[in-house]
Amino acid sequence: MTPYPLTWDLDSIFEGGSQSEQLKKYVENTENHISELETMVESFSAPRHTDQIEELSEIMPILQTIIKELSEFGAFVSCLSAQDVHDKKAGLWQSKQHELGARFDNTMTQFDQKLVQVDKDVWNSLISQHPFKELSFILDERRHLAMDKLDLRQESIINDLGVDGYHAWGQMYDTLVGKMSVEVEGETLSVGQASNRLSSSDRTIRKKVFDNLQKAWSDQEDLFSETLNHLSGFRLQTYKHRNWKRVLKEPLDYNRMSEDTLNAMWDTIVEFKNQYVPYLEKKAQLLGIDKLSFYDVEAPVAKTEQMMSYQEGAEFIIKQFRQFSPKMADFAEMAFEKGWIEAEDRPGKQPGGFCTSFPDSEQTRIFMTYSGTPSNVATLAHELGHAYHQHVMNELPVLNQGYAMNVAETASTFAEMIVADAAVKQAENEEEKLALLEDKVQRSVAFFMNIHARFLFETRF
Ligand SMILES: [Zn+2]
Repeated sequence: MTPYPLTWDLDSIFEGGSQSEQLKKYVENTENHISELETMVESFSAPRHTDQIEELSEIMPILQTIIKELSEFGAFVSCLSAQDVHDKKAGLWQSKQHELGARFDNTMTQFDQKLVQVDKDVWNSLISQHPFKELSFILDERRHLAMDKLDLRQESIINDLGVDGYHAWGQMYDTLVGKMSVEVEGETLSVGQASNRLSSSDRTIRKKVFDNLQKAWSDQEDLFSETLNHLSGFRLQTYKHRNWKRVLKEPLDYNRMSEDTLNAMWDTIVEFKNQYVPYLEKKAQLLGIDKLSFYDVEAPVAKTEQMMSYQEGAEFIIKQFRQFSPKMADFAEMAFEKGWIEAEDRPGKQPGGFCTSFPDSEQTRIFMTYSGTPSNVATLAHELGHAYHQHVMNELPVLNQGYAMNVAETASTFAEMIVADAAVKQAENEEEKLALLEDKVQRSVAFFMNIHARFLFETRF
């Protein structure tokens, strides 16, 4: 068999990367659709009777087309900038995407506010009939969220200023990270590549990588703190004007989660996180040190490092998926074969991993930097979990395909666990079993400690 490609195929979506003519035409077409929707929403009047559904049923298809197109466009642009942080044209496309996004958001704000004007009884009966029934959850949610917002004029100003005053700061962060490089043993590495070396079995290398990473981030700390302050400042001002008192209002709405549920989760985590302390102490003992440093947390405890080539990692994942679900395995195999995954270990790539959806072409792409560590294999399985989740939703109306991070991470963590559990069961000897169990526990440590620490930082900040 031919080995799976290490780099992804973006040409099958839009040919020619950031210079793509096909992309240009696609975006022009989307702009036309947005103009069309703007006119329709402008003249749309809130239904007063349950039989006034004509305008609304004309709006729904075009609205869904635009969501599809904007997501397709956005996904492509994020792939372009992730694969090459120096691609300036990709940055321009990103600005274009934010501009169109803001235009669409404004139209949707106008639309939502007209939904708020519909009498409650008319509304309830309206969304229970065809063709709105299958979209009723989303429509009802939109109407409710709109009730907590400002009037159209003010919300439009927030949306428009958000392009340069909010989203642009996110882009700034990516630009800064892209410029950073870390020297490790004479090699110049990107931040993502260097982070992979934190799981080296050699403590001297880990310490060096950690120190150099610390230095690289500290060198830019004034720029990062300013970026963070402006992102937060924009949010605080928006909250103030909307008269939103609770700092978690927006993330909770977005995650369709109550504050009680969130607190129940964190309380449980706080109650049980200490159970990982004996593990960390044992790990320090096995590594022959008194106390773990941050750069020891991901160190392997086994003598031999369980490195896997990309091909081996891919075959391993497909095999484990197959024991749970042949459909899931077939999907993963197809993703590997067709080049839906960017895994190459090279400088100039963004750090981290993600999976992004192309709802128009019904495809997904996975991005990561694969260097062969067990945690890379886990990341790959994780991202394939996201991809499979998207795949099983392809049949749904695009409005119903939206889901938040908490649901997304359930699908991906599940996929990750299938691979982790199966791997432990099939370990050939004690040493290998230990390494695999350790990798699994490590991920729980990440959820219970690392992620919790980030949550505490962000809410306090
Ligand atoms: Zn994920």
